[in-house]
Amino acid sequence: MSIKLLDPQTASKIAAGEVIERPAGVLKELIENSLDAGAKNINIDISKAGKALIRVNDDGCGIKKEELTLAIKRHTTSKITNFDDLNKLNTFGFRGEALYSLAAVSKLKISSCQSEEAGGAMIEAAGGQISAQAAAPAIKGTTIEVKDLFFNTPARLKFLKSDNVERGHLLRTIEEAALANINTAFNVNTDGVSVYRLNAQEDSEQGLRTRLNKILGQELAKNLLFCQDESFGFKAFISPLNNLCASRDNQFFFINKRPVLSKVLQQALYKAYQPYRAKEKHPCAIIFLTLNPAEFDVNIHPQKKDIKFAFESDIFNFIYNKITKTLLQEQQVSQPVLAENFATQQEQFIPEQKEKETDTQENIPLDLSEIINKHLGEQKQDLFINDFEERKEYFTAPHQQEVEPEPELKQKTSNYPKWWQGPYNYLGQIHQSFLVFENPQGLVLVDQHAAQERVLFEKYFKEIQIGNVASQPLMFPISVQMPSSTLEQVLNYKDFLLKIGFEISRFSATCLMVNSVPNILKFKEEDLKDFIVALPQDLKADEANLKYKLVAMRACKRAIKAGEKLNKEQVEALMENLKKCEDALHCPHGRPTILTFTTSEIAKRFERT
Ligand code: ADP
Ligand code: MG
Repeated sequence: MSIKLLDPQTASKIAAGEVIERPAGVLKELIENSLDAGAKNINIDISKAGKALIRVNDDGCGIKKEELTLAIKRHTTSKITNFDDLNKLNTFGFRGEALYSLAAVSKLKISSCQSEEAGGAMIEAAGGQISAQAAAPAIKGTTIEVKDLFFNTPARLKFLKSDNVERGHLLRTIEEAALANINTAFNVNTDGVSVYRLNAQEDSEQGLRTRLNKILGQELAKNLLFCQDESFGFKAFISPLNNLCASRDNQFFFINKRPVLSKVLQQALYKAYQPYRAKEKHPCAIIFLTLNPAEFDVNIHPQKKDIKFAFESDIFNFIYNKITKTLLQEQQVSQPVLAENFATQQEQFIPEQKEKETDTQENIPLDLSEIINKHLGEQKQDLFINDFEERKEYFTAPHQQEVEPEPELKQKTSNYPKWWQGPYNYLGQIHQSFLVFENPQGLVLVDQHAAQERVLFEKYFKEIQIGNVASQPLMFPISVQMPSSTLEQVLNYKDFLLKIGFEISRFSATCLMVNSVPNILKFKEEDLKDFIVALPQDLKADEANLKYKLVAMRACKRAIKAGEKLNKEQVEALMENLKKCEDALHCPHGRPTILTFTTSEIAKRFERT
């Protein structure tokens, strides 16, 4: 094959693919251009999740009439002139590629005006070709309209996700921009419905709080702790220890107002919360840093989301210590006991390749196979560190033993599962948690909560599998507040939820209603909310059956079980139900439900021979 120069249209489509992968990428570029232009008001209209239209209107400096055609050419920018300018960059843009890319893969229209005297101008382009030029209203500012995104790149179009998912990404982009730029007012409509109306705020803690209230919802925002420091221009809102969230989505990191993904910052955050955090709870955190542009590199990622720090460990230690101190101060007021657990020494940032060994490993999104292995693995109870772990040598799960049952008993139990070594003579309950039995092998302990969860899980999962989940309308539907971006992600699972017995509906842009729940599950309000909010991150898998299993497991974990104190009938019922389970020996998360302490082991412990 001979080498030839790509024609400009092909080249531009390929280039566009790197800058813009989905509607949210378009919106990000447009908002950043408006902010770079000094806009005080930004109006955003979206229809069909950005697939039909994304329009961003601002009152910024505008583009010169005669430069409109230049603006949509490749590598044309008013923001830098040479490479060294990157070290003093104070704009979001600098590549001069966004408008060029948009013109290549959509029907683009730009109207702009620098001043009333100069008048306005408009330009239209489709698939990289200018299709119209005309005068425009003389209103200072710029309106950029992106229609029919990817109309000429069908493969890209096909790759887009459902409207809920794409809208979720679009709204997240807006939420990030709005949190980082509180001096600017944002007005957001999707398909003609108002989602956010955010007034401009002063640069102060109060200003930030006002904006946070609007975006995260009062319920979450009102309790956040504020901390700041002159170094690194650090400002942060973080969850108090008694108010962590079920969702990992409420974490925002900004460097010089740029939303960033950063393992360093994320690990520092989790490290600070690590001693106090239940496994499925996550801190909400909005962290702002201001750095010298020479100290980090935004140029490593085409969408400029990922960053690299020049002084990784310094940043890590600083964030970790700041957050720890803030939590400690707060904690001293309410629960002095916990204080001693706080580490005050310097902690080391662990670079990526060692990440698996760090304490924060469970915070980094796991892929589903890992979750399944971790939680559902049938013989994997040893993965789990629990109260029994250190005493494991004295306890052995019955299925691991080679004890031959008496022939008579064997016959009697032939209809029973393999593990069943009855009769089980119930002796009582200890610490309202463990049931004590005598059986022919010796002493048997049942973790009542683990056993109840197993029984519940199998019943519920069976209902899901046969497609017959009985659902119960709630007398008082439960409202759940969340950012609009999270809400779209949850709504994406509306039909899925219906199949597993939960009926949800949109109440407003930032509030969902839970109207029905499965008959078989009872929830405390808080636990139900947590279940709903955590859904998108629990459901990353593609495989339907795994999804059902995972979600059933999550639901059962949060559902209320029978009271702490069980009577004899309840105990017997539980054992009967456990007998019918496919994997009675483990709770849905893989921990053992039953431990046997054989008579010979007991004797040995008493040093009898
Ligand atoms: P970059 O932002 O990297 O410079 P873009 O392709 O996004 O590249 O924009 C090209 C140029 O068009 C910008 O440098 C800026 O001068 C002008 N421009 C784009 N959007 C706006 C806007 N909303 N207001 C004013 N000028 C704009
Ligand atoms: Mg730009």
